[in-house]
Amino acid sequence: MIVAMKENATEEQIQNVISRMVDIGFNVHRTTGTQQTVLAGVGSPASFDVQDFQLMSGVAEAHRITFPYKLAGRGFRPEGTVIRFSNGVEVGGKEIVVMAGPCSVESREQIFTSAKQVKASGAKFLRGGAYKPRSSPYSFQGMGIEGLKLLREVGDAMGLLIISEVMEISQIELMLPYVDCFQVGARNMQNFNLLRELGLARRPVLLKRGIAATIEEVLLSAEYILSGGNYDVMLCERGIRTYETYTRNTMDISAIPVLKHLSHLPVLGDPSHGTGRRDLVPALARASVAAGCDGLLMEVHPNPDKAVSDGAQSLFPEQFATLMEELRLVATAVKRSIS
Ligand code: PEP
Ligand code: MN
Repeated sequence: MIVAMKENATEEQIQNVISRMVDIGFNVHRTTGTQQTVLAGVGSPASFDVQDFQLMSGVAEAHRITFPYKLAGRGFRPEGTVIRFSNGVEVGGKEIVVMAGPCSVESREQIFTSAKQVKASGAKFLRGGAYKPRSSPYSFQGMGIEGLKLLREVGDAMGLLIISEVMEISQIELMLPYVDCFQVGARNMQNFNLLRELGLARRPVLLKRGIAATIEEVLLSAEYILSGGNYDVMLCERGIRTYETYTRNTMDISAIPVLKHLSHLPVLGDPSHGTGRRDLVPALARASVAAGCDGLLMEVHPNPDKAVSDGAQSLFPEQFATLMEELRLVATAVKRSIS
């Protein structure tokens, strides 16, 4: 059930509604927006009459929710979620935020050069995997903690936020000092134990769409994180597996406006994994912005031909610089901006 309080509802009225919801067996999540307070009742009490809530003082509306994701649904925060990061960067506002960098952290020189290049073109986050989910156990598995230390060092030196992938529960605590945002990869989108633990962490999470996940499944995975009390979740379309083989994945651009419609969470596009080919990345990046994304995650490498992972889909730094100029024009056309 969702209960939207009136704009002028008093704290006492809000507490009365919360007590009644708790009494009948709901777990209540409260969100206070600029205009009103919304209470989401999660759980399934045996029976209750929604009208009892509609008539309580201070209540504007009360609805039974039939879709299974209550906290991730747009109704929980109709105005949309804006995630605020330490250096003033916001994801979910008017500004489209670009996260860029190599697929993997490979060496000090590689990550420092990458950081300099993406920063110069306007990226706000440096991406780079220290723990890599590789399809083959014989491929490079990442630099681990040494990679995380390098990311933090270069992020602090260059004023870039850091995003890196977390693959298992034991890495959460370990990564906290080094990352501004956790990335949950496509292969872990339904690692529910990991998602639950991230719900208890107080650090934003970017959740990638699973390789064969439906939109409802993405939102239910987000629900796992939100239900732990961590509301700072971003969703990311990174392409799905279809019968098409020309591209590495099929980038589902329509998922961007659909997720924006169904959910209040910021939505990002990842055209690198979405296509697997650097010649296609600019077109799909522009399309993502035109489709209403709140940010982009893209792979850029100082020397893609020598990259240890995902070189074919990594942009050359000059290509990235040109693309950022184009993206600024597209953003303006859809009343957004990229600084
Ligand atoms: C990545 O971002 O490098 C990555 C492994 O992405 P995905 O989980 O989308 O495959
Ligand atoms: Mn990659």
